[in-house]
Amino acid sequence: MPYFSTVRMLSRVPSLRKAERQERESLREIQELRLRRLLRHTLTRSRFYIEHYRRHGVDPLKFEKLSLEQLPTVNKSQMMNDYDGVPSDSTLKRAELERFIEESKSPGQKFRGKYTVIHTSGSSGTIGIFVYGPGDWAIAKAMALSRVSKVKPSLFKKTRYGFIGATEGHFAGISMSQEARSVMRFLPLSINDPLDTICDRIQKFQPEFIMGYSSAVNLLAQLQSEGAIAISPRRIVCSGDSLTEGMRQNIRGALGVEPVNFYGASEGISIGIECDERRRMHIFEDWFILEVLDNSLRPVKDGEPGQVYLTNLYNYTQPLIRYRIKDEIVVSERRCECGRPFRIIERIAGRQEDFLWFDRKDGRQEFIHPIVLAEFFVPGLVTFQFRQPSNEKLVVRAVVREEKEVVAPTIVKRVKEILAHKGLEEMVSVEVEIVERIEADRMTGKFRLIVPMAS
Ligand SMILES: [Zn+2]
Repeated sequence: MPYFSTVRMLSRVPSLRKAERQERESLREIQELRLRRLLRHTLTRSRFYIEHYRRHGVDPLKFEKLSLEQLPTVNKSQMMNDYDGVPSDSTLKRAELERFIEESKSPGQKFRGKYTVIHTSGSSGTIGIFVYGPGDWAIAKAMALSRVSKVKPSLFKKTRYGFIGATEGHFAGISMSQEARSVMRFLPLSINDPLDTICDRIQKFQPEFIMGYSSAVNLLAQLQSEGAIAISPRRIVCSGDSLTEGMRQNIRGALGVEPVNFYGASEGISIGIECDERRRMHIFEDWFILEVLDNSLRPVKDGEPGQVYLTNLYNYTQPLIRYRIKDEIVVSERRCECGRPFRIIERIAGRQEDFLWFDRKDGRQEFIHPIVLAEFFVPGLVTFQFRQPSNEKLVVRAVVREEKEVVAPTIVKRVKEILAHKGLEEMVSVEVEIVERIEADRMTGKFRLIVPMAS
């Protein structure tokens, strides 16, 4: 099977390369063709979409006459509240998927031997599950290989690829990265390992290509400037949290490579990346339609910020059509000198969560990375927030679906595992507060996943 799936992935690469050189007009035609195909598939198989469209006055049988803008939008809560109706394979059920996520900690393991299952809360604190079938996943993999890693597979010399992020579970980054094993040598580095372990492993492996959370790669740059490691990668791709100008300078200065910013999400895995020529972030519009809308669902003007609504044109298993991703971005119609026909993302706002720092008894510091908390998962948990009232305490505020007597102790157990990895389990106590809802931050009006000490 791995051989077959590698061939399947590689067979997709030439058309991806071709799409990067085509005209905007033919790109739009491909988008439209793929959209119609996806709608035909979804509106005959997904009970959730059929009912959702009917509720919004759209006859699912007459979608052919409607443009994308005339279709209702979807958000994560709507989808997760009625999850069992969403997948086009109606045998995929939320309870069974949650059990699988709970029991299988290996991101390489497939559900029923074929489905890739991804889960995340992102920065919204609300858990989402996303399933990809083998055909869908082959396209996602081909995009990651040819447009993100840019590694040319070779039988004779396999590129050494180091990934730093959340590695123990079915998260988008590690699930996709570990697929690289078929064409690269691969080292997963858990951001939840103690710093010494991270240094030892990366030093021995000497990655040529590094990918990870921006703040995690920035941490590697700091370790390199402090002399704790000495590595010389050739390509560095950052994603997840904001790659700030300060981080770029650190990484460039310490690791000697200009980092490339990448737009990834569980909802589409690889959505866009900066071009090497001009460092402008392009949306992979051959496989995604990305709308930027205001609060009244009207398209914003070119160059103005708005909310992202994603249509994933390759996921036929769990269709996402006009699905709201909680990112605020600015898109521009301006053509990039690199010649790609894809639109440019000028800016992605937000996506910056706080590290939780703890002063250890021996005077050193240890941290919990926000990604570890953003990927937190316990069955029955709906929305959550981590608060650090003191150096010795962590409180999880949780909205749960059912059985709080079971869910709350499981949350405590899971948080203690995270703390134990960092050697903090003795020092930090964990409490769970079951609440009806978690309010947005009063100052900013935005939800905060992590509220560190003294803030
Ligand atoms: Zn470009």
